[in-house]
Amino acid sequence: MSVRLRVNPILCDGHGLCAELFPERIALDDWGYPIIDHSPIGSKEESHARRAVDACPTLALALIPANAPRPSARAEGGE
Ligand code: SF4
Repeated sequence: MSVRLRVNPILCDGHGLCAELFPERIALDDWGYPIIDHSPIGSKEESHARRAVDACPTLALALIPANAPRPSARAEGGE
């Protein structure tokens, strides 16, 4: 099953740790909040993504099925 990243902007404190661990898919805005690449993550990158998810201190970052509906780009912290 293909997965993608999702960030909960209410839980996110803008530590930026996720972007350090997975810079291929996560950038930071001017305030240190993540800008997520929502495209599906391949199996080669999935372990990096899981490491970033596991390291998030507020549990704001998650891996979800790639085909899960997106409420809106703003609600997911990106684009
Ligand atoms: S590690 Fe978690 S709390 Fe920190 S910026 Fe990333 S998603 Fe937000």
